[in-house]
Amino acid sequence: MNDRPLLVFDFDGVIVDGMAEYWWSAWHACRRLEAAPEGLTPDQVPDAFRQLRPLVHHGWEMVLLAAELPMLNLQVWLQSYGEAQASALQRRGWRPEQLQAALDDARDQAVRQNRSAWLALHRPFPGLVERLQQLEAEGVDWSVLTTKTQAFTAELLNGLGLHPWRLDGREAGAKPQVLLQLQQQRRLCGFVEDRRATLEAVRSTPGLEQLPCFLVTWGYLRPQDQSGLPSGIALLHPDRLRAPLAQWP
Ligand SMILES: [Mg+2]
Repeated sequence: MNDRPLLVFDFDGVIVDGMAEYWWSAWHACRRLEAAPEGLTPDQVPDAFRQLRPLVHHGWEMVLLAAELPMLNLQVWLQSYGEAQASALQRRGWRPEQLQAALDDARDQAVRQNRSAWLALHRPFPGLVERLQQLEAEGVDWSVLTTKTQAFTAELLNGLGLHPWRLDGREAGAKPQVLLQLQQQRRLCGFVEDRRATLEAVRSTPGLEQLPCFLVTWGYLRPQDQSGLPSGIALLHPDRLRAPLAQWP
């Protein structure tokens, strides 16, 4: 086994701010489904989308959100996201797989037709690229574990000049399972995420109870996500991120 510790990073909401791309791609996926949101343009992220994005777990949910945005009641969706989502899906007669396919197709076409414009919709969070590049000098390897597809993520990391030890995309499976596999090969020193529910799932997975988990404060968090964190999940603020790993909470 390689002795160097490995720090695992989520991608969206941790390394890269993809909000502009989420909206752009969701809008175009809606158009493919002949449900482009009326009165909204792909270049301007609506505030309601920004507020609801932290509730999204799978890419296809953004397509439904975009389609519903002109008519949805924001408070109802914020309070009962799962129910609102299920009822909108049923009303439209849509299946998650078809929304995911429309989203993948929209992204795929964007990459083929105007790759640089699509890449430019992703902005790294301030200081992240530099910090990741420094880790090597601290004797730490890092990898990326994301629900985005492997190919898109590889493209984006390359564009940022970032070269992780390993990249696991959506195809690799659920995050806890991938972490268990990584743990067979490397000594994991932490998992950095912006989705609290994912970290809670990781910590409750047999074999991962001891994995230090970090919830970043700059990602797509809901207001209530930062308080009352269970033990083993620490908040990671930007100033702490910049500090040497040994000083992390
Ligand atoms: Mg994320």
